[in-house]
Amino acid sequence: MEDLKNIILLFSCLLMLMVCGCQNQNKIPPTRVSSEQIKQLSDNDIFAISQQACVENDKRAIIAPDYNFLSKRLSNLTQNLPQKINNIELNYQVYFDSEPNAWSTVNGCIRINSGLMTLLEDNELQAVIAHEQAHIALKHGISMIRQAPYIEITDKASELVIVVKEETSQQFEIEADNYAFDLLVSKNLDAIGLVNMLIKMPIHAKNQPTSHPTTMKRIANITDRLSHH
Ligand SMILES: [Zn+2]
Repeated sequence: MEDLKNIILLFSCLLMLMVCGCQNQNKIPPTRVSSEQIKQLSDNDIFAISQQACVENDKRAIIAPDYNFLSKRLSNLTQNLPQKINNIELNYQVYFDSEPNAWSTVNGCIRINSGLMTLLEDNELQAVIAHEQAHIALKHGISMIRQAPYIEITDKASELVIVVKEETSQQFEIEADNYAFDLLVSKNLDAIGLVNMLIKMPIHAKNQPTSHPTTMKRIANITDRLSHH
C-alpha cells in the first residue's frame, strides 16, 4: 500500500528496541524485522511507535502556523466532524508540501499537505479528513503492521518499508471509504466529495493514477452507495 509506506514512517531505533531489546546504536544497518518479531509487538507498542513517527515527521516537515489561512481552513473543516475517535483526541497539521497527499497514524495524527488543500474544494477535503478518520477508527495502521510478512528497515532516513498485499491495501481503502461515507451522511455533509477527490487526486496514491483498478473500484463503490442513498 502506498498508503502505509507514506503513513507509517516508523523509526528504526524505536522498533529495534522493541523487537529485540537491543541497546540504542548510532548506526543501525539495514535489516529485516520478521513477521515473528512483528507479532511480539503489542497494540500499545504500535501506538507508541506511531506517536514517535508522527513527532519525527513533524520535525522534518515545514508546518503551517496556526494563523496561516490553510491551517484556519483545515480547522474550520474539521469542526463538523468528530474531534475524538476511540477516545483519542485527533490532531491536525498542514505541511507546506506541493505533493497532494494526506496521511494519518493510529494514535490520532492527521496531516495534510498544502498541495492537496489547494487542489480540493471544501467538501472534497472533508471527504479526505473523514477517510483518514476512518483509517484511525478501524485501526488499519495496526492491522497493516500485523499482517506484514516482514518490515524492512533502511539505513537512510530511518524509514521503514512495510510490505502490504495489493488486496489488503484495496480492502482497507474501500473500508475507509465506506466508513467515511456513513460519517459524512450522518453529519449532513456532501458525500459526493469522496468521488470528486478521487477523480482529482487519489489520496495516498502517487503511483496510482485515476485509472488504477483500486481507484476505479473505490469510485464505483461510492457512486453505487450514493445512488442507493
Ligand atoms: Zn486511505
